[in-house]
Amino acid sequence: MALRADAILLLCGVTLGLPAAAAAADGERYDPNARMATGAYHYDMAEVLRARDQFVAEPVQQPDLSLLDSLPLSARQSAPLAPGVLPEGWVQLGEVVQRREIAEGRKQIDPEPLPAWEDIEGNQYPRKGTVFLNFNGGELKGGDDNSAENKSTLARHNHKYPVFNGSEATALTLIQAVEQDLETLGVRVLYRQRPSKTVPYTMAMIGGSWTDTNIGDPAGGVAPGTDCEDRDQRNVVYAFDSSSATISQEIAHAWGLDHTLGSDRIMSYQAGNNKHFGDNCQALCEEQCQGPGSIGCRLVHEKYCGVDSEQQNDLAELNKIFGTPEPDTEPPTVNIASPEGDMIELEPGSTVNVKADIHDNYGGVGWKLIVTKDGEVIHDKVDYDKRGSWVFSNLPAGTYTVVLEAEDHADHVVQDKLTILVRSADAEPTESGSADDSGSADDSGSADDTGAADDGGTTLNEDPTGKDGCDCRSSNQGAGGALALPLLGLWWAHRARRRRVA
Ligand SMILES: [Zn+2]
Repeated sequence: MALRADAILLLCGVTLGLPAAAAAADGERYDPNARMATGAYHYDMAEVLRARDQFVAEPVQQPDLSLLDSLPLSARQSAPLAPGVLPEGWVQLGEVVQRREIAEGRKQIDPEPLPAWEDIEGNQYPRKGTVFLNFNGGELKGGDDNSAENKSTLARHNHKYPVFNGSEATALTLIQAVEQDLETLGVRVLYRQRPSKTVPYTMAMIGGSWTDTNIGDPAGGVAPGTDCEDRDQRNVVYAFDSSSATISQEIAHAWGLDHTLGSDRIMSYQAGNNKHFGDNCQALCEEQCQGPGSIGCRLVHEKYCGVDSEQQNDLAELNKIFGTPEPDTEPPTVNIASPEGDMIELEPGSTVNVKADIHDNYGGVGWKLIVTKDGEVIHDKVDYDKRGSWVFSNLPAGTYTVVLEAEDHADHVVQDKLTILVRSADAEPTESGSADDSGSADDSGSADDTGAADDGGTTLNEDPTGKDGCDCRSSNQGAGGALALPLLGLWWAHRARRRRVA
C-alpha cells in the first residue's frame, strides 16, 4: 500500500508484541455472510409477461484487453473525486473495509459456518473457485457484493470505473503473477472471458484510484473484509496500483485473510520482492497496524495456529476453501424434482411449484432457471440466494419450458427441462405422454409450431456426450431461446430420460 506503507511500518515496529484486545476475544460470535434465504421465489406470470425485461438477465459484457493499447490514456482516467462515504455498518481500516462491529472489537466472526449453511449445495468445502481480473472497468452499482451483477459494497453507485491505465503487456505480466500466486489452489484465473453469471466468482477491478470507490481515505487497493473462508463467493475487490501483490492481497482479503508481517509475504504491507502466500504460522500485523480488535477472521486463524497465537497460515486457510488444483472432470447433476415427469398439463391460471436438486463433486456450483413461453425467454435469473424453489402462479395459456441449468468452475454446464402445457379451455385435449407424434402434431392446431418444433428437436439432439438425456455443453451460449419444445416434439421429450441425482 504505497500511500500508507511508511506510516504503517513505523507503527508496526513500535507496537509489535501488544497483547490481543480483550474486548474482541470475548466478543459475541456471528456470521454476517451466512445468508440463508428460505422459501420459494414467487412469480405472478401475468406480471412477468407484462414486464419481462425485469425477469431476463442482461447479457454478460466481455472484456477486451486490446483496449489497453488502443484507447488513449486520457480516456482511461476519471477526474479525481471527493472522498466517498461507505455504506452504513462498514468502517475503513487502511485498505480493508470491515464490518463496524468487528472493527470496534464488539463481535467476532464465528470460525465455523452454520451447519445449515454448509448443507446448502455449493457452499461446501473444498470448493473450486474463479477469479476474474477486470482491466476494462465498467459501470458499478452500490450494494451487497455480487460480482456477476457489478454490485459492490465499495462501489461508487453508478460511477463508471475506468479502464486500466497501462498496456496490455503490463496487464499480462500482472495476470501471470497472480496466476502463480494462486497456482497451488483449485482456483482458475479468467481475464479474456468473463465468467457466466451462474458460477460464483471473485472480481478484482484493476486500475482506477481510491476515489473511484466510496472509501474515504487513500489506499493502494481495497477489499471488503470479514468474509471468513469466503462464505459469500461473489465479492468485488480493487487494486489501484500496478502491483500483482496488491491484486492477490485484495483477493485474499475477500477470502478471509488478514495482514501479516514479512516483506516476502503477499499479505504484508511491507515492500518486498517475490511475494507469496505463506505456508507457516506468520505473525499477524493487523492488530498493531490497524488498531486493537480489528482482525477480521481471528478465530479462523486460531484454528490453524492456536488460540491467542496472533498468527495466520495463509495457505492452510486457502487450501481448506479451495483445495488443490487437480482438474475437475465431473459435471454437476441437476434435476427438477418437482413437479415430477418431463411434461405436465395445467389449466389456465394454474400455479406450479418448481423444486430443484443440484449437486456437484466440489463446492462452488451455481445454477439458474430459464423459462420460455411459446419459444420466447420470459425469465432467466441466477438463483443467487440458493433457494432452489420457485412458484409460478397465474399461468396464461401457452407452451412453457422450464430449464434448470447448473455450472461448475470447469465449464461444465448441465440442464434439466420441464415442459408445461397450459391449454385454454376451448382447446382440444392433448394425448399426454403418447408416443403417437403424428397425433400430437395434429392436436397442436398452430402453423407456427412446425418451425419451432425443428428447433426443439435440434437442441435436444445436441448432445456432445452421446448419452441420452445429458445436456452437457461447454459454452455459455444462451440456452433458453433455443429450447422451445412445442407439441410436435413432445413425444421425443417424453422418451428422453432426465438426469437424476443418484
Ligand atoms: Zn491489505
